[in-house]
Amino acid sequence: MRRKLVVGNWKMHGSRPANAELLAALMAGRPYAADVAVCVPHVFLSETAATLAGTDLRWGAQDVSEHEQGAYTGEVSAAMLAECGCRYAIVGHSERRAYHAESDAVVARKAQAALARGVTPIVCVGETLEQRDAGETEAVVKRQLSAVIHQLTHCASEIVVAYEPVWAIGTGRTATPEQAQAVHAVLRAQLQAATGRGQTMRILYGGSVKADNAATLFAQPDIDGGLIGGASLKAADFIAICRAAA
Ligand code: PEP
Repeated sequence: MRRKLVVGNWKMHGSRPANAELLAALMAGRPYAADVAVCVPHVFLSETAATLAGTDLRWGAQDVSEHEQGAYTGEVSAAMLAECGCRYAIVGHSERRAYHAESDAVVARKAQAALARGVTPIVCVGETLEQRDAGETEAVVKRQLSAVIHQLTHCASEIVVAYEPVWAIGTGRTATPEQAQAVHAVLRAQLQAATGRGQTMRILYGGSVKADNAATLFAQPDIDGGLIGGASLKAADFIAICRAAA
């Protein structure tokens, strides 16, 4: 019913030769049963677009400005991403929230800006270890998602949600399939209550997904694929994860 989606988040990694090698391997690994995308640094978008154009692989950005255009030095607008053929823009990644003080409101405006230009936002939500230990996981992710749903005009458009527990990102510590499923079920119920289309919207899991744990995570009923950081930089690992999403 919901086609799985696997998205690589390259973060601030890559170089022209390394990207060419990685994308060539990813193309050679086709076909995949899931939708597959890479979210690359802005400077590599045009080259990625040129490489992947005409294939069923998708690409996107790791952030987008909340502003249409103007005097915002260093920012990249949703219109610019659309011009580069971006299908997706990650918004609200925990690294943006932590290092760039992005609030729920800013994340919500970024999601709206992306949608306004036909770019699907991948909205990241997730609790810190302190919040989990304090029993606040559900309240935190619901608050983060609610800000975005509230901002979207009639919430008529498609969004992708990524549940990424902060304590699992880049730490090698993965949420158990049961822990992840429990939060995904909460998020889906919230999407369903707010939009009536929760059953059709994709919710990805992110946080130290590797080739050897992807299949069990993706087998959970409300996990529709993954947002993959470190393992998306190694072709063999990323391809194995894409193949685990059937
Ligand atoms: C991420 O950055 O979104 C992520 C999930 O990273 P990692 O897979 O390295 O934990």
